[in-house]
Amino acid sequence: MQKAVWGRAFVYQMLDLHQLTVEAAGYGLLWNEVRGRLQALTARQVEFDPAGPVSGFLTTLAEDLRSSMMPFPDGGAEKVCSPMLDDIERLLADAGRLRNDPLQTLFTDTLRAAAGAYRACGLPLPDDMVTAVEVSFDHQSAPVDSALPIQVIATTRLGDTPSGVSAHVDIVVSPTYLDELTVFALPYVLLHECVCHVFQGPWGPGRIQADADSRFAEGWMDHIAYTVACDQARALAGGKPASSLSAVPRPGALREAADQVHRARHQPHPRDRAWAARAMGVRAARNLAELMTRLPELAGRPVEAAAAFRRLSLRLNVSEFSNTQRDLFVAAVHKATLARTEHGLVVQLRRYLERDDLVHLVEGTVKLFT
Ligand SMILES: [Zn+2]
Repeated sequence: MQKAVWGRAFVYQMLDLHQLTVEAAGYGLLWNEVRGRLQALTARQVEFDPAGPVSGFLTTLAEDLRSSMMPFPDGGAEKVCSPMLDDIERLLADAGRLRNDPLQTLFTDTLRAAAGAYRACGLPLPDDMVTAVEVSFDHQSAPVDSALPIQVIATTRLGDTPSGVSAHVDIVVSPTYLDELTVFALPYVLLHECVCHVFQGPWGPGRIQADADSRFAEGWMDHIAYTVACDQARALAGGKPASSLSAVPRPGALREAADQVHRARHQPHPRDRAWAARAMGVRAARNLAELMTRLPELAGRPVEAAAAFRRLSLRLNVSEFSNTQRDLFVAAVHKATLARTEHGLVVQLRRYLERDDLVHLVEGTVKLFT
């Protein structure tokens, strides 16, 4: 099953890079044929799981994809399709030389990036918070049953013991149904687990996991995970295939997928009533972030305003406040920014910027409505 995941994840990157060029030249049908062939070959791999090394499978896959396009119908097809097939071949050859599972590498990198986001805000995340995180990957042949439009489910379980913190992230993928959206959304999906849950505080044993309908953990903090994912994608050079699930050749693909999945998390869903709580969290977060850009202290300095908002959010996630108190703060911010901005919230926020007192901000904001 792993082979199918590798094959699809990397070929999708190249199909995505070349899609518009091929389509614009009038060869969309050929592009679809390659994609269909990729899915058939990898599905067969899942079904029958023939023995052999990953590298051999990837080499054969590249050859099969090329031969599926032969002979080219005309010179124009050859001109736009050959570079794509060459790129696929090169990338699969590189991927065949990988020593580690790219999913595992992506998780390790994401964990480090999430820790970096906390540390960049002056929050000294202890090393054992990072080393105590375990991850497991599982595959299933049936489609993944998720409220999100992706074929991966990631869940975090906090498992602190009196002697130390620990977190376990379970990731389940369906290789047979693995599509582009899932592959390109992976960095954001894993950031959600690490930023929102794995490094939730207060940092010490006995942490209490937030509920699945937590406005703060699943809504507000998801907004933060999304912005970190967008920052990461923006920082990529692009262009070069790197046999990695994060350094994709077209970084815009990561932003588009993160955007789509992030939006799906807080859109009405018939089977998942928690969507409204998540939507409230995201909306409150966006409103407060936007309000900060308008305060005299930060006006005209959007980068500083965004950094101040991220710091406030991460501090709240690691604070001594309980999950319930965090959710109450979100509800208060939502109410205070629902129609027009409550003056009391502006006062609280400006005082926070002046004194850096998070406890005062949270208690003062909640009190606005009690
Ligand atoms: Zn979550």
